[in-house]
Amino acid sequence: SATTDNNMVKAIRIHELGGPQVLKWEDVEIGEPKEGEVRVRNKAIGVNFIDVYFRKGVYKAPSLPFTPGMEAVGVVTAVGAGLTGRQVGDLVAYAGQPMGSYAEEQILPANKVVPVPPSIDPAVAASIMLKGMTAHFLLRRCFKVEPGHTILVHAAAGGVGSLLCQWGNALGATVIGTVSNKEKAAQAKEDGCHHVIIYKEEDFVARVNEITSGNGVEVVYDSVGKDTFEGSLACLKLRGYMVNFGQSSGTPDPVPLSSLAAKSLFLTRPSLMQYVVTRDELLEAAGEVFANVASGVLKVRVNHTYPLSEASKAHEDLENRKTSGSVVLIP
Ligand code: NDP
Repeated sequence: SATTDNNMVKAIRIHELGGPQVLKWEDVEIGEPKEGEVRVRNKAIGVNFIDVYFRKGVYKAPSLPFTPGMEAVGVVTAVGAGLTGRQVGDLVAYAGQPMGSYAEEQILPANKVVPVPPSIDPAVAASIMLKGMTAHFLLRRCFKVEPGHTILVHAAAGGVGSLLCQWGNALGATVIGTVSNKEKAAQAKEDGCHHVIIYKEEDFVARVNEITSGNGVEVVYDSVGKDTFEGSLACLKLRGYMVNFGQSSGTPDPVPLSSLAAKSLFLTRPSLMQYVVTRDELLEAAGEVFANVASGVLKVRVNHTYPLSEASKAHEDLENRKTSGSVVLIP
């Protein structure tokens, strides 16, 4: 029947955990939005490294099969009963839980979506909600970067890394970035990195030591994890902040608490979800990000676009360090 057809959409599904090949392009049934929910037809979907963790089982999905994806921009196609403040036709963005954005359409809690300013391109918005709000909480809330600080950003040409460099520079910090190759180094430079270290070729701890005349940095934003964690601690100045917010190279080895004592270091392992808990926090974070895009502080690099059906190729490239800036899927 027509109703049934209307309820079938194409989506990427994961039936078993594993490599990029477990991402399957399938028909799935989607219902109508219930009270407090909206149905959204996605225009652009952001790919994030967290999608890889869920696909592999590093982070646990609630059940199998599931549709991955935590970031998208789309048009509201239906609203649940009794809902005010959201209308069919609204352009909205969302990032975070619930998962399921690798789909032509999805149902979302209305309080998790934010309006997208018409001046911002949907592909840009879809690649900056999760990554931009992450840069926001890392630089403004987790550790507050001030003019005169020196900050170290690993994977400085990555999706989040590119934004951390641009925003950190605009906040008046001296930015040191690490990247794996020359092309990425050139991008990081353009993004306002004052010093770029190719950590595949150079010892980043020795270089940071040299750049800071032996003083170290106020904060390290480390999303690489296993390969960089120990070195990151060594780059910090007295009472510095170690912010480990990801593990692209694998989970870091456990650290004895006592190892922080020599420099009275702070160590945190934050997650965006705990920084956008309330509706006010979400609106504030998204608002700051959109404002910085509009004012030109953040130049969003949508460097890689794939059809949604080819999500497995996007994952392969992201995991193999072939991407820089943001990766976007188009339904
Ligand atoms: P990126 O675009 O940064 O991609 C990952 C990058 O990590 C690669 O391009 C690569 O850059 C670097 N890298 C270093 N070692 C490896 C390795 N062994 N395998 C693969 N990549 C490696 O991804 P995102 O911007 O999506 O995310 C960046 C990180 O931030 C991720 O770890 C993610 O989980 C984390 N994150 C955490 C959040 C939180 O709330 N805690 C929220 C959002 C993101 P290079 O080639 O230069 O080394």
